[in-house]
Amino acid sequence: MGAGPAGFFLAERLLGRADLPIAVDLYERLPAPYGLVRFGVAPDHEKIKTVTRSFDAVASRPGFRYFGNIEFGSEVTLRDLQRHYHAVCFTTGAQTDRRMGIPGEDLDRSYPATEFVAWYNGHPRFRHLRFDFSAVERVAVVGVGNVAVDVARILTRQPAALAGTDIADDALAALRASRVREVYLLGRRGPAQAAFTTPEARELGELPCADVRVLAEEVALDPLSRAAVERADDRMLRKKIEVLQGFAGRAPAGKPRRLTLRFLVSPLALLGDARGGVRAMHLARNRLVAGPGGDLKAEPTGDVEELPVDMVFRSVGYRGVPLADVPFDEKRGIVPNAAGRVLHPHTLHPIPGLYVAGWIKRGPSGVIGTNKPDAAETADAIVADLRSGAAPAPAVDDGAAIEGLLRERQPCLITFEDWKEIAALESARGEANGRPRVKLTEAEIKAKLGCP
Ligand code: NAP
Repeated sequence: MGAGPAGFFLAERLLGRADLPIAVDLYERLPAPYGLVRFGVAPDHEKIKTVTRSFDAVASRPGFRYFGNIEFGSEVTLRDLQRHYHAVCFTTGAQTDRRMGIPGEDLDRSYPATEFVAWYNGHPRFRHLRFDFSAVERVAVVGVGNVAVDVARILTRQPAALAGTDIADDALAALRASRVREVYLLGRRGPAQAAFTTPEARELGELPCADVRVLAEEVALDPLSRAAVERADDRMLRKKIEVLQGFAGRAPAGKPRRLTLRFLVSPLALLGDARGGVRAMHLARNRLVAGPGGDLKAEPTGDVEELPVDMVFRSVGYRGVPLADVPFDEKRGIVPNAAGRVLHPHTLHPIPGLYVAGWIKRGPSGVIGTNKPDAAETADAIVADLRSGAAPAPAVDDGAAIEGLLRERQPCLITFEDWKEIAALESARGEANGRPRVKLTEAEIKAKLGCP
C-alpha cells in the first residue's frame, strides 16, 4: 500500500524469491507512482530520480500488478485487503509535517516546508496552493536537514536554471517573480549536529546566484562537540564541518542573493504585521549541553535576537499519519512494529499478516536507498510468516476478484500500463521543451486515460 521507494523495494525483494512464487499487488492513492521520488526529490536533483528505472523494471516482472488512484480507507479497506491477501504491507511514508509549537506559527506567510516541496513538485493534492514571493525579500527556513537545504536552494537558484527541470509550471512562474534576496537556514544545535549531508552542504557553497555566509563563532566547535566528533571518527562528518567552517573565510562574490546558515539559534515566536503576515522572528541563542541519552542538546543562553523576515518555512521533519483500523504510535508518528511486523498496541504481539516498511515503519530518516534494506527486512519477515503459516490464508484467494472489486469502487483505476502511457507523454512534452519531463496534472492524466 503506497508506491514510493519502500513499496517498490519491498515488491522487488518479494518477487526476487526463486524458492517461493509470490505475487505482489502495489497500491497507490495518487494517479502517479514513485512517492517522494516524484513529489519530494528537488527538481534540480534529477539524477536521484533515475532510481525510477529500477522501479519500472520491478513493475515489468511477472507476478506484479499496480493499482493506482485507489485510496486506502475509502476505496479499499483493511477488511477488504485481509479477505484477499495473505499479507498486507503499508509503505505509506510520512505524509504530514511536524510543528514548531511556538506563537505565531500560523501567521500568513508561515508555511510547512513539506507543502512547499509538494507544491513545486506538482503533487496533485498541493497544486492548488499559492506561494507568492513577489513582495518577499527575506525568508527563514527553520531546521538544518536536507529538506531545509532543498528549500533554500530552490529559493536562491536562478529561475532560468530551474526552467530545464521538471518543476511545476506554477512554481516556476512564482520563482520568476521572486524578490527574495536573503535566505536564512536556522539550526538549533551546532554544525556538528546539522542533519543535512555533506554533498548537500557543499552544494550550498556552489550556488551560482547566492553567496553563502556563516558566522565564524557559530561554526567553531564547542568542547563537547569536538569530543563527540573525535569519538565518532566519521570522515563524512569531519568533511561536513570543514565545508561549513570553510564558508566562514569566504569573501562575498557580489552574487544577487545571500544564503546565511545560522547555528545555535531556536525560534521562540513569529511576529506579525498589521495584516497578520510574518514580519520577524524572535530567536533564542543556545549553547550545547549533554542530554540524558548522551546526545548534545540545545539550551537557551538567555540571549534573544529579533530577525526581520517576511516569510518562514518550518522544515523540522515529516510525520506519519494514522491509517484506518491500523495501530498507530502517536508519539513517534509511526505504526508500532517489530522488524516490520505490526504490533497489537496492547498485547505487543504481531498482528498476523500485517506489515510496514519505509518511513511509516521507522520514521522519516535516511535517503531513498535506506529504504532498500528496510524493505528487505520486512519482506523477509513476510516470507518467514508465509512459510511458517503465521500469515493467515485469505478468504478469497483469487487475484481477479480484488481487481473487480476495485474497479467497481473506482472506475478510474490506473494500471502500470496506463501509467507508462502517461509517463511517455510527460517525457515527450519534456523533450519538446528541453526538460526531463513535464508532469501532467491529475485532471490531465484522467482525461488522457478517458476516466469518467
Ligand atoms: P531531518 O533530517 O530530520 O531534519 C530536521 C531538522 O529540523 C533537524 O535539523 C532538527 O534539528 C530540526 N528541528 C526539529 N525540531 C526542531 C524545532 N522544534 N526547532 C528547530 N529545529 C528543529 O528532516 P528533513 O530535513 O525533513 O528530512 C527527512 C529525511 O529525508 C532525512 O532523512 C533527509 O536526509 C531525507 N532527505 C534527503 C535528501 C537528499 O538525499 N538529498 C533530500 C531531502 C530529504 P535537531 O537535529 O536538533 O533535532
